[in-house]
Amino acid sequence: MPFEPSGHDTQTVPKVGTARPACPLCGTPVAQSFFEQKGIPIHENVLMPSREEARACPRGDLAVALCGLCGQIFNATFDYSGVRFSAAYNNAQTYSPRYLDYLEEIAGDLIERHALKGKTIVEIGSGQGTLLLRLCRNGQNRGVGYDPSYSGPETAEGGAVRFFRDFFDEGDSPLVADLVVCRQVLDLVPQPRRLVAALSRRLAGSSSTTVCFEVPDVNWMLNNCALWDMGYERRSYFSPQSLRWLFEHEGFESTRLSSSFGGQYLWLEAHPAGGPRPPSAAPDLTGLAKQTEEFAVLAQRKIAASLRNLQEAGSAGKCFVWGAGAKGVMFLNLLDPQCQLVHCAVDLNPAKQGKFVPGTGHPIVWPESLRGLRIARIVLMNPIYLDETRRLLKKLGISAPLECA
Ligand SMILES: [Zn+2]
Repeated sequence: MPFEPSGHDTQTVPKVGTARPACPLCGTPVAQSFFEQKGIPIHENVLMPSREEARACPRGDLAVALCGLCGQIFNATFDYSGVRFSAAYNNAQTYSPRYLDYLEEIAGDLIERHALKGKTIVEIGSGQGTLLLRLCRNGQNRGVGYDPSYSGPETAEGGAVRFFRDFFDEGDSPLVADLVVCRQVLDLVPQPRRLVAALSRRLAGSSSTTVCFEVPDVNWMLNNCALWDMGYERRSYFSPQSLRWLFEHEGFESTRLSSSFGGQYLWLEAHPAGGPRPPSAAPDLTGLAKQTEEFAVLAQRKIAASLRNLQEAGSAGKCFVWGAGAKGVMFLNLLDPQCQLVHCAVDLNPAKQGKFVPGTGHPIVWPESLRGLRIARIVLMNPIYLDETRRLLKKLGISAPLECA
């Protein structure tokens, strides 16, 4: 799908002598996208109080492209002017026991490997503080969290943890921290390179500080044809190549690049290396380019098959989507924009109850609401929650076919 050489918003897209959209990391212009969807909700995680407001939500076009230089995959039509991360933004996964176990694992692992006892920890995008509080409580550490969507008290743990309802300051003031952690943020910010550059600047001379960044792994998405993971508000999709490229170019030495959460996330650890480093060899993107070509074909087949599946199931009862986060929102917007095939979206997050799916207006309900209904199918949006969802359905006495999207 080639891009027209004009008409794109370039407020946040570096220009490199051309009107073609450019990679948000290295500025290389791209000629075409490999996956497009028109008119999808700009926000997947903003709670909508009524069906009417949900259906009238702001929309944008998605055009996912691969940068041929650094390996970054990104939404080339992204327009930051419509994107807001405020208190209405809620993508908390912390109501899932599986996810809480994961955060517990991360906290234990970081405390042990980095000897975090009596240290200072900064978290960028700390959400409601679930990880930061664990890191500080379990290691007697001090913590500072930044997140505009935070809604709790300003301090916790007897004043050892302080929360700022704001974005991380990208200014020049020195940052004093033993560990900086930032999870699931770099893929959402309009200019990921600016955030990493600011951190590098603020940590100048602090070679003992460890920075830890977690992002969704686009390799997992491509290999599993996880097209529901591709939404408008996510600006960037990092590959191992592009994540390493970014940190090395902004003056960090990466010391660990690993996979986490069942292969869905990439975890990078790095130290300030005393300023920008000479560029290493360009990453080999042969495999990634082939993956995107295959994805383009498989995604269209998957959309058609999923639609057929829902249509055929309709005669046997009601269909439900399990998970009203980004994946569920994308699934419903692509397959059931008029609310004709799926009855409701189920979610464990109390803040989503009684609210509506952006774009389509499907109601969001508790799992208990499914009791006593004739259910044809429950479509689970994230396969990593299969076991816990099976257990919960059994506990609630709900017998229904459960399948992964
Ligand atoms: Zn690039």
